Amino acid sequence: MIKRQFIKRFRNLKKDDLHVDLHMHSTWTDGALSLREIAKTAKKMGLTMIAMTDHVRKNSTYCKDYEEEIGEVSKETGLEILTGFEAKVVSAKGELDLPPYCRRGRHLIIGSVHSVPMKGKTVHPKDISRDDLQDLELKYSLAIIKGGKADILGHAGGMTIGIYGGFSLVYLEKIIRTCGKGDTAFEINSRYHGSIIREIWELLSRYNPLVSFGSDAHSKSEIGNCIRMADSLI
Ligand SMILES: [Zn+2]
Ligand SMILES: [Zn+2]
Repeated sequence: MIKRQFIKRFRNLKKDDLHVDLHMHSTWTDGALSLREIAKTAKKMGLTMIAMTDHVRKNSTYCKDYEEEIGEVSKETGLEILTGFEAKVVSAKGELDLPPYCRRGRHLIIGSVHSVPMKGKTVHPKDISRDDLQDLELKYSLAIIKGGKADILGHAGGMTIGIYGGFSLVYLEKIIRTCGKGDTAFEINSRYHGSIIREIWELLSRYNPLVSFGSDAHSKSEIGNCIRMADSLI
């Protein structure tokens, strides 16, 4: 069973809880650094725990080898590293694009909206208008929370923010309110949430969901960015 006690309700957070980064990508998928390089950098920065959360799809076959290397690197560096995976949502029921080996309970699972299921096809967010994309991002974010397959809802609103520069705060409130009623953590993601972090903070304090801090780092300079962002607010 994977530890989850570092994921707390927002109002229980203390400054001391801000030494983790629970969303990172390595050379196992599209990140620039190896697991070892990431762990060494995180350790130097004073992080006490990280989660490696490389991308998976249903047909991914690397997961067991990845988990073993994480175990080795954790031993070598003395840094606690959780094995996690980020998978996209593939249905309105909140099912994720996960291989059978990877699952909640055994790993830290981030469910995210990436390419979107639309009329029987998978559509890249860039090919969807702003209004449609944020409607879909709301729908599938709520599906991830209600589907119960993920520990963490990854970068809520991130596709619309990344492509169109913003996301409806009314929708964000619906997402955070729904997280508040359940046990899916809302991720504070420094790659996408920088421009709306104050609004997010205010909604988190109102609805008190579980929260997770993630940099979504794909390169060295991004590691721990989520902590720098939260540190200025807490
Ligand atoms: Zn993502
Ligand atoms: Zn990611």
